[in-house]
Amino acid sequence: MPLAPQQLGLWMLGPALLHYGSEAQKQQYLPDIVYGKVWWCQGYSEPGAGSDLAGLQTRAEQQGPYYLVNGSKIWTSYADKSDMIFCLVRTNPEAPKHAGISFLLIDMESEGVSTQPIKLISGKSPFCQTFFDNVKVPIENLVGEENGGWAVAKYLLQHERDMIGASYINEGQTPLYEIARRALGFENTPLPDPVLRQQVAQHQMDIMAFQLTLDRSMDEMKQGQGTMGAKSSMYKYLGTELNKLRHELIVALHGFEGLGWEGEAFQEGKLVRDYLRTKANSIEGALPKSNSISFPNTSWPCPGLSFLFF
Ligand SMILES: Cc1cc2nc3c(=O)[nH]c(=O)nc-3n(C[C@H](O)[C@H](O)[C@H](O)COP(=O)(O)OP(=O)(O)OC[C@H]3O[C@@H](n4cnc5c(N)ncnc54)[C@H](O)[C@@H]3O)c2cc1C
Repeated sequence: MPLAPQQLGLWMLGPALLHYGSEAQKQQYLPDIVYGKVWWCQGYSEPGAGSDLAGLQTRAEQQGPYYLVNGSKIWTSYADKSDMIFCLVRTNPEAPKHAGISFLLIDMESEGVSTQPIKLISGKSPFCQTFFDNVKVPIENLVGEENGGWAVAKYLLQHERDMIGASYINEGQTPLYEIARRALGFENTPLPDPVLRQQVAQHQMDIMAFQLTLDRSMDEMKQGQGTMGAKSSMYKYLGTELNKLRHELIVALHGFEGLGWEGEAFQEGKLVRDYLRTKANSIEGALPKSNSISFPNTSWPCPGLSFLFF
């Protein structure tokens, strides 16, 4: 999935800057994002604030021309490889928790910033805990209003979900029936196992339906019918479930070979590691729990029904 640092700038920070950034911030940051010159990471989650994102405790106190930032972020994808981090910080500890948060852009080279890689269940280490120890951040790096960061954070999360949902569908992805054919070595005949055959066919149809639905939404957006809005949460959820099932089926199609952790016979564990990585799909890019999305004016799924996504 394309969660490389360039993607975080392109899909997430770029749209947020277009919407909330000052003219100077747009001029300074957008060209480098487009050309992939500056890599960004996301400093939202903290050891005590994940689903309850608004409970974050990293402090930023204004001191003259700087904010002095202290605290720590966790699960920061590519923090050790990124040039910059967009960060949620608490600027008013007295205010109700959503009202005391600001959105800051911080140079990862600043004195007092350090990272510690964390290993995933798949054995890889794509993310880190990130520490801020008396880090000085120029006040012009504030995006939007001081204490108005929650609105920026939510807007950016909507684009994160669009990115994650869409990332499970791409033209370069090998169709499951092709993987089955290669794994089981059959040609021009149906998949021998009738249960797997049914599951592969169903999954392929679901992927096609999902692709068509995404295409329709993109067309609607291009025709000026607004953003994806709440749909991006549904697409993120559906994309996540489809991707997890895809990798379960890939492991099943490879039988014994699909379970090995190391060694050539097991593709150095690639299949099982990729399968384990998908378990994080439903955690990453989650919606903060204080966001209740309602559909008061629609007849689907039913009038006034509210969804709570974690
Ligand atoms: C691969 C990966 C990459 C990530 N990259 C980044 C990144 O780059 N930057 C960043 O800031 N964050 C990142 N995250 C963090 C991600 O956003 C958080 O993991 C997510 O918000 C969940 O928070 P948590 O892990 O603290 O889980 P918790 O909030 O502790 O939740 C644990 C479990 O409890 C459930 N739960 C929580 N509250 C409730 C409730 N009130 N009622 C019922 N159940 C509840 C949750 O659904 C979940 O199943 C990444 C995560 C992953 C897995």
